[in-house]
Amino acid sequence: MRIAVYPGSFDPITNGHLDILERSLKLFDKVIVAVLVNTSKSCLFQAERRKEMISKVVGRKNHITVGSFGGLLVDYCKQVEARTIIRGLRAVSDYEYELQISSINKQLAPDLETVFLMASTQYSFLSSSIVKEIAKLGGNVSALVPKEVEIALKMEFSKNS
Ligand code: ADP
Repeated sequence: MRIAVYPGSFDPITNGHLDILERSLKLFDKVIVAVLVNTSKSCLFQAERRKEMISKVVGRKNHITVGSFGGLLVDYCKQVEARTIIRGLRAVSDYEYELQISSINKQLAPDLETVFLMASTQYSFLSSSIVKEIAKLGGNVSALVPKEVEIALKMEFSKNS
């Protein structure tokens, strides 16, 4: 069974993430969406909430699991018996960071491969940060995120205003 881990902050999950997830399902038997906990990044949504939103959006499917990890990604991959890490690449700006992370992971776990999928054109400028910025300013994010996320963002920002 070809198992892959798709790791990220997913703060929150966007249509760009979902596009990568859908496309990766054509390549792997099972994909584990792994939410990063304990990041130095300050997140809008708690990890549990991010996980909950992803689970709601993807629904119950045998070949998708939603998990979380707080330690090294390579250790998490070993634990869930995944041999591949999936990452999405948007602009050149993603490349340097991704190259660094994938090289380190290769050193830590030589058997683990990182597979990069290029962002689809319509999502190549989409990020969780831009979605949060638009939502914070009261803009319409319905074309950028699933309905559940749109509602969660509205609630989050109305709470703070
Ligand atoms: P991280 O904080 O680890 O970068 P993100 O949640 O921002 O996590 O993204 C997770 C992965 O999804 C990364 O590989 C990122 O490049 C990719 N990604 C994010 N947005 C998009 C998008 N619009 N299209 C394709 N890939 C994306």
